[in-house]
Amino acid sequence: MSNIAVIGAGVNGVASAIKILEHFANEPKKPIRVTILSEDFTPNTTGDGSAGLWGPYLLGGTSQSKVYKWSKSMHQFLEQIWLSGDAGEAGVCLLPCVRLSTSTVDIVGDFWRDIVYGAVDLTEKQLAEYNEGRTVKFTSGLSFVTYTSEPVKLLPYLMKRFARSGGVVVRKRISDLEAFIADSQYDVIVNCSGLGSRTLLNDDQMYAVRGQVSRVKANWIFSAVLDESDDGNYIIPNTESVVLGGTHQERDYNTEVCQKDKQLIVGGCRRFVPGLEHTECLFDWVGLRPGRTQLRLEAERRGRKLLIHNYGHGGSGVTLCWGCADDVLDILLAAKNGSKL
Ligand SMILES: Cc1cc2nc3c(=O)[nH]c(=O)nc-3n(C[C@H](O)[C@H](O)[C@H](O)COP(=O)(O)OP(=O)(O)OC[C@H]3O[C@@H](n4cnc5c(N)ncnc54)[C@H](O)[C@@H]3O)c2cc1C
Repeated sequence: MSNIAVIGAGVNGVASAIKILEHFANEPKKPIRVTILSEDFTPNTTGDGSAGLWGPYLLGGTSQSKVYKWSKSMHQFLEQIWLSGDAGEAGVCLLPCVRLSTSTVDIVGDFWRDIVYGAVDLTEKQLAEYNEGRTVKFTSGLSFVTYTSEPVKLLPYLMKRFARSGGVVVRKRISDLEAFIADSQYDVIVNCSGLGSRTLLNDDQMYAVRGQVSRVKANWIFSAVLDESDDGNYIIPNTESVVLGGTHQERDYNTEVCQKDKQLIVGGCRRFVPGLEHTECLFDWVGLRPGRTQLRLEAERRGRKLLIHNYGHGGSGVTLCWGCADDVLDILLAAKNGSKL
């Protein structure tokens, strides 16, 4: 019997745990036990405040080909949920989006445009409409359809799926990873502790990317618009509220709502949709994205135990979680078959 611990109950921990458990569910000859150990659970993880829009963002120097593969896997997973009866429960919505770029700073790129549905460049006329009254002009724009999977709904859905397959959940903070590996009964440990890895592993390549958003009640907005320039705003509808964003402040660990940021968020979003002036603000929220020089997904041996790292997903943890979980499972299977890690 393999005894596997997954540290962290954010989108990456839960996706990795399910992927492993569901893979072995049909192999009664290879019994396994998967336990999620985490200090916090939904609705208190980083993803819970996010809109969960599909889209690679803020990933440091992570290889584009890997991001493509991981994000495509998540898009396919969301498509399966969308086509099943689970979409409502899992909070998966199909959403028209426009991403706008300025020539000076395009921090995202569109290498993923064949993954989403119906991507087309905006025409000059369409761009001119977005540019009206702006001093810094948009030079290109992409219109497409993709998914949101708001983690405040996706995570409870995935946790239920995990429990249904026999997964175990323990609330626990790991303060000394080495001692935990040495003393616990687990033979495989999957580290999905997000920004927690900064202290857990003394990983100085990890840093917070602070994000502040406002949630408003505006159930008359049915499409997303995102300004990709460095200090750009975004408007992303979820099922019960609309997310107005947002900031990305590197190495800023302040989890308090900042009024100056709020003014920039609300003011900038109103320039896109003036009607937002008359909406009710439900709440403001700050989250610390697990930034890293590049996402870490690799394994190391610790004596007879296997430690798999899956953290540093920056601004795309939701977008990448299912694809990264594919790789966690592949690493585990390779290790079990005695392959070199
Ligand atoms: C404002 C904002 C908007 C965003 N919008 C999007 C979006 O639209 N689309 C998208 O794809 N991404 C978005 N993101 C990014 C996304 O939210 C993160 O990348 C993602 O949530 C990271 O997930 P994770 O599971 O790796 O880490 P986390 O969600 O941070 O989970 C880490 C888990 O580990 C646990 N943990 C940590 N340390 C320990 C320890 N020592 N012992 C035990 N447990 C521990 C924590 O309790 C937690 O359960 C956004 C982020 C922010 C802040």
